[in-house]
Amino acid sequence: MTSTSSSKRFDVQWIDGQWTPSSADDGITVVNPTDEQVIAEVPAGTRGDVDRAVAAARRASERWAGTPLTERLAFLERLVGRLTTRSEEFANDIVAEVGAPLAVARQAQVGLAIALAASYLDIGREFGYERRVGNSRVVREPVGVVATITPWNVPLLLTLQKIVPALVAGCTVVHKPSEVTPLYSYLLAEVVAECDLPAGVFNMVVGTGPEVGAELARHPGVDLISLTGSTRAGRDVIRNSADTVKRVHLELGGKNASVVLDDADLDRAVRATVDQACFNTGQTCLQWSRLLVPRDRAGAAARIAAEVAATYRIGDPRLDTTDLGPLVSAAALERVTGYIRSGIEEGAELVAGGAGRPAGTECGYFVEPTIFAGVDPAMTVARAEIFGPVISIMPYDTTDDAIRIANDTDYGLHGAVWSGSDDHARQVARRIRTGVIDINGGTFNIAAPFGGVKQSGYGRECGVEGLDGFLETKSIQEPATGPEVTGPRLRETS
Ligand code: NAD
Repeated sequence: MTSTSSSKRFDVQWIDGQWTPSSADDGITVVNPTDEQVIAEVPAGTRGDVDRAVAAARRASERWAGTPLTERLAFLERLVGRLTTRSEEFANDIVAEVGAPLAVARQAQVGLAIALAASYLDIGREFGYERRVGNSRVVREPVGVVATITPWNVPLLLTLQKIVPALVAGCTVVHKPSEVTPLYSYLLAEVVAECDLPAGVFNMVVGTGPEVGAELARHPGVDLISLTGSTRAGRDVIRNSADTVKRVHLELGGKNASVVLDDADLDRAVRATVDQACFNTGQTCLQWSRLLVPRDRAGAAARIAAEVAATYRIGDPRLDTTDLGPLVSAAALERVTGYIRSGIEEGAELVAGGAGRPAGTECGYFVEPTIFAGVDPAMTVARAEIFGPVISIMPYDTTDDAIRIANDTDYGLHGAVWSGSDDHARQVARRIRTGVIDINGGTFNIAAPFGGVKQSGYGRECGVEGLDGFLETKSIQEPATGPEVTGPRLRETS
């Protein structure tokens, strides 16, 4: 593969409505995972950068909270328009820094992100910001200054999932993108600047998790921190935010099960599971990495899965003919191939793929789609979030057994149930502890709440709940019109 990439250099952060020089001494190199070439250098943001960004967000907070909703929604309308106009630039950045195939970048990364942003035009307009309870007026108010921290795998969508409802709610934002894929965020700040948002309402600080992320979590000027990332980072955010008792919203890892019941169409269920699990080269939190099948159908499931895996065309994500791009980084490749080796060592049966370099690739962080059969629930590949195109086929004996295995994980984000009957699938889905679950190929719905239980985090994004998460509730007690109720006070007022 030949490189056509040229390297860019950024030494600024977006703070208070302008490009502001970072006080960073160090830079972070951004590498194209397809050809391993350096494509950019960005600042390793500092505490000073965070202080400046949070101060700007605080200064802008009261005024933005008091800006009429219609004006906030008019900003969103402009943003959706500019994102749409520049969508191809976002897609190209995501191909270059994530390694997602162009079609995936266009549709699932950028197209879905814009649709998600647009969904808040109606949600924001129709939300119930006020209600009466007896003599109380219960009002919903913006939380204040929100820090958003996002991962690299679906960068634009996961950023807009936070900043759009936060801004519609009347919060101001300091955003920290993943240091692995910061290019899209420089473009996003540029697009926001084209939309006449008042200075300080949206700020961006690029830097690492342990520096910028931890500082945002600790910062007394931040009212709410919303992280999408690993469970490890989530634990750090909880610890670092404890002293300031700020609100925390966590969208974390997953080890999701696709449960094929004995009355299901096996062929359809297995094909759909392998496709979902290999989407974005297996780098999604909702990946169905465990495929649970009745024991007497496990052999057939392995044959179908291996057949599907063999059809994927691995290679340069810029080409229309590519289904699977590279993993995001050298570290990701080392981690994923390490897990594949652990599966082999622990006795799982390798029926497709493996830890070697895929044929036809000479550089880049590529890995083959890998299928293990006969996976025992205690094996590492059955328990760890691998975050690569690796699927563990796990046989079970009874439906209760399948539900027990599906729930036998620290995570609880997503999943699937397949059955000949939607009712049967629904009953089983209700017994699986996750925040989201698909039955019989139910499709992704950006208007439905998304989030996890257990160590997959707490809080919900998308839809009405996604806006609700950036609002506080205040009860304003008004003079009673009916019989007086005496509340807890020292003296009665006349
Ligand atoms: P990561 O946890 O390494 O990084 C995510 C973000 O958190 C980055 O911006 C990073 O700089 C920051 N970060 C890291 N350590 C931090 C710390 N101590 N304090 C504050 N911020 C910190 O994760 P990643 O490798 O970028 O992404 C993959 C992970 O994200 C997977 O576990 C995946 O399941 C999860 N994820 C979850 C969802 C969801 O909706 N639940 C969606 C996508 C990805």
